[in-house]
Amino acid sequence: MIRIDNLGLVYYQFKGLAAEPGLRHGFFTRLGGVSQPPFASLNMGASVGDDAAAVAENRRRACAALGFADGQVVTPYQVHSTVLARVGQAQGGQVIEATDGLLTAERGVALFLRFADCVPVMLHDREHHAIALVHAGWRGTLDGIASLAVAAMQAHFGSQPAQLWAGIGPAIGPCCYQVSAGLAAEFAKRFGAGVVSRPASGSSHLDLPTANTIALGEAGVRHIEQADLCTACHVDEFFSHRKEAGRTGRLGALVGLVA
Ligand SMILES: [Zn+2]
Repeated sequence: MIRIDNLGLVYYQFKGLAAEPGLRHGFFTRLGGVSQPPFASLNMGASVGDDAAAVAENRRRACAALGFADGQVVTPYQVHSTVLARVGQAQGGQVIEATDGLLTAERGVALFLRFADCVPVMLHDREHHAIALVHAGWRGTLDGIASLAVAAMQAHFGSQPAQLWAGIGPAIGPCCYQVSAGLAAEFAKRFGAGVVSRPASGSSHLDLPTANTIALGEAGVRHIEQADLCTACHVDEFFSHRKEAGRTGRLGALVGLVA
């Protein structure tokens, strides 16, 4: 990914999407906001105990950095479901209840989701000028939210999976994501033994980003860029729910269509 430092506000962009006309995107780090520890400083999560005014200011800064006003941004209340919603200008500025993925083909609409270790999956259909942004934790990954998003883009916009471009953003990597033997076995059964590693006897580590890459590949997506940036390895730049034992903020991911 490409690291951009915009006067202290730091975010990442996919190499394959950074120069795409008609689209702006960014994966924000924890750098550049106004929140105090343990949410320092660009926390986007309003339900983690942080000051609401600070979160609003952080979000305004992030949106402004990509040229979007608050009223153009649509965000879901994320619940680790596989619920996806198609949105447009009519939903600008709104929070969509109990949803973990948004899609749109309307210009002037930006999709905004929050993360702290879970996998951000971004989809772009250049031909139909459509985008999707998905929150895939272990539950959503196992339940297939990435491939469901591909199917939703087919159904709503006529997207051809082989023509889609997909990006897997910063998330907890196999280096840091220890899980129970039972969950590891479930993932190995669904995605193959390659998504589980055993760095020490008795421990199982899960590769959640690669599981999503496998799911997208099965859904017919050929162009996939995987960030390979571990949030837990880099708490200087990212919030990590696992590494910081739940006392932390949320990272913002934003993608929107422009004229
Ligand atoms: Zn790591």
